[in-house]
Amino acid sequence: MKMQINGKAAEACGGEYFDVKNPATGEIIDQVPKGTEDDIALAVEAAESAFKGWASTSPQQRGIVFYRAAEIVRRKKEELAALLTKEQGKPLAEARGELEGFAHVLEYYCGLAGSLRGDFVPVPGNGYAFTVKNPLGVCAAITPWNMPALIMGWKIAPALISGNTFVLKPASNTPLINLTLASIFYEAGLPAGVLNVVTGSGETAGESLVRNPDVRKISFTGETGTGKRVAEIAASGMKRVTLELGGSDPMIVCDDANLESAVSGAIRGRFYNCGQTCTAVKRLYVFESVAEEFIKKLESGVKNLKVGNGLDKNTDMGPLNNRHQLNFIKELIAEIEEKEEGKIITGGKVPEFEGSDKGYFFEPTLVSDVPAESRLLKEEVFGPLLPIVTVKNLDEAIEAANRSNYGLGASIWTKDLDRIRTGCEQLNAGIIWVNQHLKVAPEVPFGGVKESGFGRENGPDILSEYMETRTIMLKT
Ligand code: NAD
Repeated sequence: MKMQINGKAAEACGGEYFDVKNPATGEIIDQVPKGTEDDIALAVEAAESAFKGWASTSPQQRGIVFYRAAEIVRRKKEELAALLTKEQGKPLAEARGELEGFAHVLEYYCGLAGSLRGDFVPVPGNGYAFTVKNPLGVCAAITPWNMPALIMGWKIAPALISGNTFVLKPASNTPLINLTLASIFYEAGLPAGVLNVVTGSGETAGESLVRNPDVRKISFTGETGTGKRVAEIAASGMKRVTLELGGSDPMIVCDDANLESAVSGAIRGRFYNCGQTCTAVKRLYVFESVAEEFIKKLESGVKNLKVGNGLDKNTDMGPLNNRHQLNFIKELIAEIEEKEEGKIITGGKVPEFEGSDKGYFFEPTLVSDVPAESRLLKEEVFGPLLPIVTVKNLDEAIEAANRSNYGLGASIWTKDLDRIRTGCEQLNAGIIWVNQHLKVAPEVPFGGVKESGFGRENGPDILSEYMETRTIMLKT
């Protein structure tokens, strides 16, 4: 597949390509151009040239393009889902859900289009003041491979609906769905140059995008370490920046929780997308009085998960997305065994089925008796491995849950209103779930605290992140 610059398919200036592989089979499914600094410059130039026209298009008209694009995505859902599964690895049902989520994001912002406005402000003395909101210009995003379609939607939709133009640098493992979704925008009537996609490495294409002086805002999603680098470069260019970074979400199961629903919440929370979700359940704290029963039920549920190629309709959990992730999980398991830091209840190895050695498969794994100093509780575990810790009470659970550099999400499972209130007030995270985990919606803000980043995506207030407020003082 080619890049998308100025509404057209484009080769990279350097003429080089890189492979996109299927993580379930190791097969090369396509090649995409290795974008250079010159390609980024061309894409930003195209976005800059398209800006005047798009900014003066009425928000309602922009919304119509969104609405049509959402309709095309829904119509082509099956073929798009198969493409997403092939390059990312997730089961088809999850891929379909992600694409429905993408379409829903477009529809939500289409609805917001009519509410873009400034204010009329009476001021002391003989006069008036107005505030008007103007788009910033060229905005950009750098995205990861775990939820490539949904995160693309979260970034391009608020920017474009507010009249900005855009350059996207997608993750190198999953560029195909992003290129295809960008071409759907053009099919829906987007004017040339409004949305550009440059594929390539983070160090070359990513950094030149952040450095480009004509880019006014960067929205980044990825690892905390990469986010810090992006923030540093963006600061030197005085650019606005939103950072959606890593997470290590705790889930607290109290002794009065509905254990059946907590068990299914933990299974989906941890093993959805093969554990590669920023807001996955990455640490589980369960009250000791119910721990035995809870762990038994959880073990039985996890053993029922079928691991396989995401294209197979019986698959519950696909492969990890890449070899680096698989090696990281294997390294953690080796360390648990070597240091005797925890007991592997189930999983802990590569599953055995025909072809499993060709892909990046790993069994869904539960580890109990994890000591506080374990890496499993300190680092972000981006894969199908769940550490379980028993606690005496809610105070101990909240203290342990907050003992992390991350602060993206957290959940508390209980029927007790006082405990719910305590959890909501004391858990230090950007999103708190009660009796659920993982649910996100474009209607509400999303983002973290501490090393999980700053700024928010989604919700109606997001539009001001993509607009400049100007004040007009009028004397009569
Ligand atoms: P990553 O940081 O390795 O890569 C993310 C993107 O940054 C990719 O497009 C990559 O090419 C680019 N990049 C790499 N180095 C760069 C540089 N020096 N300058 C500019 N761009 C650069 O992350 P990943 O492995 O793709 O994704 C997994 C991580 O993303 C996890 O930590 C996960 O928690 C996080 N994540 C966070 C959220 C959130 O909303 N908070 C959502 C999804 C994923």
